[in-house]
Amino acid sequence: MKVAVVGAGWAGLAAAVQAGRGGHQVTVFEAARTPGGRARGLEITLPDGRSVAVDNGQHILIGAYTESLRLMREVGVDVKAGLQRLPLTLQFPDGTGLRLPDLPVPLDVLAGILRNRAWPLSERLGLLRAALGWKLAGFQCADTLSVAELCARLGPRVQAELIEPLCVSALNTPAKQASAQVFLRVLHDALFAVRGGSQLLLPHADLGALFPQAAVTWLQTQGAAVRTGARITTLQRGADHWQLDGQRFDSVLLACSSTEAARLAAPLNPAWSGTAEALQFEAITTVYAWAQDARLAAPMLALHPAAQWPAQFVFDRGQLGGPAGLLAFVISASQGERGTLQSQVLAQARVQLGLELQAVQTVVERRATFACTPGLQRPPQAIAPGLLACGDYVAGPYPATLEGAVRSGLAAAQALAR
Ligand SMILES: Cc1cc2nc3c(=O)[nH]c(=O)nc-3n(C[C@H](O)[C@H](O)[C@H](O)COP(=O)(O)OP(=O)(O)OC[C@H]3O[C@@H](n4cnc5c(N)ncnc54)[C@H](O)[C@@H]3O)c2cc1C
Repeated sequence: MKVAVVGAGWAGLAAAVQAGRGGHQVTVFEAARTPGGRARGLEITLPDGRSVAVDNGQHILIGAYTESLRLMREVGVDVKAGLQRLPLTLQFPDGTGLRLPDLPVPLDVLAGILRNRAWPLSERLGLLRAALGWKLAGFQCADTLSVAELCARLGPRVQAELIEPLCVSALNTPAKQASAQVFLRVLHDALFAVRGGSQLLLPHADLGALFPQAAVTWLQTQGAAVRTGARITTLQRGADHWQLDGQRFDSVLLACSSTEAARLAAPLNPAWSGTAEALQFEAITTVYAWAQDARLAAPMLALHPAAQWPAQFVFDRGQLGGPAGLLAFVISASQGERGTLQSQVLAQARVQLGLELQAVQTVVERRATFACTPGLQRPPQAIAPGLLACGDYVAGPYPATLEGAVRSGLAAAQALAR
């Protein structure tokens, strides 16, 4: 079949690779000049004039991203060199915080929680009791429940130092508004499914190099066409084919943003478009800041956010293959303006890290992810015969993540054969 993939984010590229493997003749259309979508490389200039490659937002992968890791290897990425593997740690600048040892599941979780003496024993036991309850219930709960409601009986330290940071980093939605069902699925996959599932995989290369560029090269060597700077504006149904801006295809995979997919699909399936259009979004802001001698105790630290201190995590790019002194502060579910957020982060660094930093670049991604709220209706994969959607927002058990996008892309390409 002649298959068109609209969008070269991680979902579209996963779909294109899978469709290529299935023997289809693939053409990828990407509106931007470079592939990668919301997980792409970016050049910034340091105060000393050096130009360095960073990302549109600091990303974390985890060991449970099995499909993304498999696909990276398949297109020739050296995963060991590209990603630094660390045990799951939510360590704060004062050295306290959860750290999981390298033991088989669930012993790592058990030992990590019990050994974290900074939490009162009653809170540690309360967390273990809750975790056992979630396991016995098969990590299922009412669809209407929020993470805050699910965890209401946990102690205040566990809520502030585990549940809130995990929830906002994994679902990019604050615990009060986040879906407990999706959170439980993330906990299950990360903490209870496979050994090493909870390990943090921190990119050493920029995200473009980590998958999108390798995927494009792989596709081109397999004879697929990848057209960048090519925004698709119209999609029409023919008698036995599809027309994309006048070009003929047997099947089309919409791997663009939910808003663009809704626009293209509106005349063909208004109900599908309505569901896609109804999604709400959360922002993520990354503040890159620099000081010659800035070095953290670990490549990644958790911070204590407060109303005037918005960042939840900070990454030491110098320990992650980047220039010494460059830090990336992440504000998940961020609100407010760029300038305000940037100065608040510099003040937070002064108070919480004792560092006097200079801002280098602040990237605000307003539509970083969909808001992962309880009972959310997400549009399904199928739009019309021969027209499928894929992307992190398409119905599935995961929040908006690279792994969710990749799995959705693979599933859509597999559905072509049926
Ligand atoms: C700042 C930030 C931090 C994040 N952190 C993490 C993290 O730590 N871990 C994690 O797992 N996930 C993280 N995410 C989420 C992750 O990046 C996304 O879930 C994932 O990249 C979504 O991929 P996608 O392919 O579904 O969509 P997209 O990446 O949005 O891809 C859609 C593509 O379609 C193109 N397009 C749109 N319209 C058209 C058109 N008409 N014609 C042709 N092309 C079109 C776009 O240009 C884009 O390239 C983060 C996201 C952001 C923004």
